[in-house]
Amino acid sequence: MSSDVCVIPGCGAEAVRHLAVVEARRAFEQVPDQGRSAALCKIHYKEWKKATKKDRKLDRMGGSFSSGAKQGGPGRGGPPI
Ligand SMILES: [Zn+2]
Repeated sequence: MSSDVCVIPGCGAEAVRHLAVVEARRAFEQVPDQGRSAALCKIHYKEWKKATKKDRKLDRMGGSFSSGAKQGGPGRGGPPI
């Protein structure tokens, strides 16, 4: 084995990261349960990071994208002395 390829079936891209199979399977069930490490390509590693991130922040959909929705900050008191 000279170069590793991503273990995700159908991907076949060059692997940039190696994870424990157990870890990889947390995000990708399709990772074959063989060997000790699972190679992931750049894209799938990114996805894995995303999937396993303990980020529970609720992203509010939308936002103040409409024009004129800028909120004015609190007025700064007077001119600098
Ligand atoms: Zn991949």
